[in-house]
Amino acid sequence: MNLIEAVKAAGIVGAGGAGFPTHVKLNTKAEWFIVNAAECEPLIETDKYLCRTYADRIVVAATAIATHLGAAHTVIALKRKYEPEIAALQAAIDKAGAAIKLFPMETFYPAGDEQTMVQLVTGKTVPERGLPIDVGAVVDNVGTLLNIYGALTEGAGVSSKFLSVTGEVREPIMLHVPIGTAITECIEAAAPKISDYAVILGGPMMGKVVVDRDAIKSAVVTKTTGNLLVLPRDHYLITRAQRPIERIAAQARSACIQCRMCTDLCPRYLIGHQIRPNLVMRNLYREKFIEDDGEFLRAFGDAANCCSCGVCEMFACPMGLSPRKVNEYMKGQLRERGIQMPRNMVCEAQEDINLHRIPTGRLVTRLGLAEYYGLHAHECLELEPETVFVPFSQHIGKPAAPVKNVGDSVEAGELLAAAAEGALSANIHASITGVITEITPAGARIARRKEG
Ligand code: SF4
Ligand code: SF4
Repeated sequence: MNLIEAVKAAGIVGAGGAGFPTHVKLNTKAEWFIVNAAECEPLIETDKYLCRTYADRIVVAATAIATHLGAAHTVIALKRKYEPEIAALQAAIDKAGAAIKLFPMETFYPAGDEQTMVQLVTGKTVPERGLPIDVGAVVDNVGTLLNIYGALTEGAGVSSKFLSVTGEVREPIMLHVPIGTAITECIEAAAPKISDYAVILGGPMMGKVVVDRDAIKSAVVTKTTGNLLVLPRDHYLITRAQRPIERIAAQARSACIQCRMCTDLCPRYLIGHQIRPNLVMRNLYREKFIEDDGEFLRAFGDAANCCSCGVCEMFACPMGLSPRKVNEYMKGQLRERGIQMPRNMVCEAQEDINLHRIPTGRLVTRLGLAEYYGLHAHECLELEPETVFVPFSQHIGKPAAPVKNVGDSVEAGELLAAAAEGALSANIHASITGVITEITPAGARIARRKEG
């Protein structure tokens, strides 16, 4: 089995992002192979833990992928301040004699954003709404590499996940859990300091805020869950996420002072994309009066290039406004009107890009998270839940189709649902050994087989 076939069979998707199927991404040749170990958002511990603990495996996988891609340059990009991780990776590179360079980055947000990283490492800007391969680069997260190592050496399907639990817990911890483990079990394992909490699945800037108690109870760990941030329900990040778009738009219309800070600090603007959130905010008052599509495009088309990183609303805006949410709303309006924003394929980063980086420490203070910053996870617990609910859609594209029935016995790692034929999709594997007790359109529940 070649690398692509092994990755496809294992159901590997981007572990640090939206879950793009990795066999599709790697089915190419590239000049650059970049391993993303920069942990984009604050308070996430997972990439650091993987680099410290599995440096040898990361180097083996990176070498195999770089060979497959025919890459002339292979780098592992991570923050300069990750000293133990840099030492572990350098030792593994030296031991293997691998042609891999470490690329140290400053501590800013969003250092781990794929397009920001590609610009920094290669000096080239990915086109608007494009992919790194458009400028000859492929980027994979360290968690993805670890899964590729498992697929290449053992033929293992993705059935478990490393993740950190941070925030209002006794201390941040790392967990290694079967896919489909309830997030409430993960949080209990971390000894939460409060009983009535809200959770952010992911990081504080781009993670999914879950407030509803039933939604928290039913949420499970998937292939892309890298962190659970536990916060009081009245925390600024939680209450802010619940503001309705009507209120956000009304505030934007009345309070925007056109200072341009949202544009000047926007990471996409900085790498050279056409995106000026201040203009979208300025035009908002006349949204309902614009009938001509060309005029609508001129007023709001920039929103199409927004990546929802949150810099504008969580850091830049002195008025506490939400250009990100307005851009997301406007993307929907552009879609509804069938208006396509043309793509600028040749972009150049702003000359003063380095002067506009946002230090993570200042961002964390602005987010009201300073009390949790600087605390690190030192131990990793293995959880063995009695039941799991394994979703059929943990990736971009079509859900996988179940190949098992209720009552069937399954072994951990066995195929549970097959990638949709002829479509972007990914295989799903059983994550514990047991019996299938329920299958719904969303996924399958497995009860652990009792020993003896
Ligand atoms: S969320 Fe704001 S800062 Fe981020 S890309 Fe969109 S407009 Fe730019
Ligand atoms: S930073 Fe805030 S006030 Fe300034 S232009 Fe942007 S939305 Fe308006």
